[in-house]
Amino acid sequence: MGNSDTNKSGTWPPTVAVLGVGQMGRPMASRIVSAGFTVRVWDRSPAKAAPLVDAGATAASSPAEAAVASGILLTMLSDGPAVYAVMGDAEGLLAVAEPGVVWLQMSTVGIEWTDRLAALAGAHGVTFVDAPVSGSVAPAEAGTLLVLAGGPVEARETVKPVMEALGRRTIWLGPAGAGTRAKLVLNNWLVDLVESTAETLRFAGTLGLDPELIIGLLDAPIGSPYALDKGRHMLEGDFTPSFALKHAVKDADLALAAAESAGVELALTRSLLGSWHRALTNGRGDEDLSVVYADGAVSP
Ligand code: NAP
Repeated sequence: MGNSDTNKSGTWPPTVAVLGVGQMGRPMASRIVSAGFTVRVWDRSPAKAAPLVDAGATAASSPAEAAVASGILLTMLSDGPAVYAVMGDAEGLLAVAEPGVVWLQMSTVGIEWTDRLAALAGAHGVTFVDAPVSGSVAPAEAGTLLVLAGGPVEARETVKPVMEALGRRTIWLGPAGAGTRAKLVLNNWLVDLVESTAETLRFAGTLGLDPELIIGLLDAPIGSPYALDKGRHMLEGDFTPSFALKHAVKDADLALAAAESAGVELALTRSLLGSWHRALTNGRGDEDLSVVYADGAVSP
């Protein structure tokens, strides 16, 4: 890592505050502990932080407590409103941040929220790095995420060892907002792929074919490993969340909004969102997005 033995904000190695230790935040915090950083974790559901304490992190009772004397603030929360609520809250989290602190915003929040969060950071003299990730729980556990980063050049060295603990690759795409734009494009592709997989397997069944057979026929080079994995889960009826449907719908909505602002239409994504929103209404939001196979069939 670094070569200083101090551990406060502005010194090396920085203490890392991880705010939000859900499906993704938990393994990411664990990786950062394993990389040798001092890690403070906070989650509004304290039970989620407990396994990380066993792994060597310290649990904070508030976001501000996690932030005191931390050099890097890492957010991995549900969406833009959640990140804003935590970082801009009355407990004054950003007010206790010391000069030189870097905010590594890794949740998927879309373009408008990224702009608002960057402005919030700027108002408190905190350096903002927009760094959503591609990859799910298993890559987070293995440290093989793809980090889609945007932010000032001078912050890159500070966050580099954290990103190396989390990902197989970090790609710097430009200023804050660039990472988020790439993430929206990738997840737009991902939701279309999952819908196509679900529709294909339902179609096979409708024609009297065994959908398992189709999974076999979709082997490389046509089928992507991700689609085939989701397809197998669809057929097994195993919707244990890896990427929750509620987050996938959020990302599809964010992609549509970004496209609309840019004056383009995402016809495929728009066509799936009706049934995907219905699946949310049916209470499937906390299940994996592959649940759209079971609950996403569109009635003509
Ligand atoms: P998750 O398991 O649902 O965790 C979300 C975290 O946010 C939980 O700790 C939750 O706390 C917290 N939270 C929600 N609303 C809050 C609020 N108003 N105030 C404070 N805390 C709040 O989600 P995840 O899968 O880790 O995903 C986190 C982010 O990464 C999302 O933006 C998601 O789109 C993105 N992402 C996910 C994946 C994936 O495959 N799962 C991959 C890449 C990116 P509670 O537990 O109390 O609800």
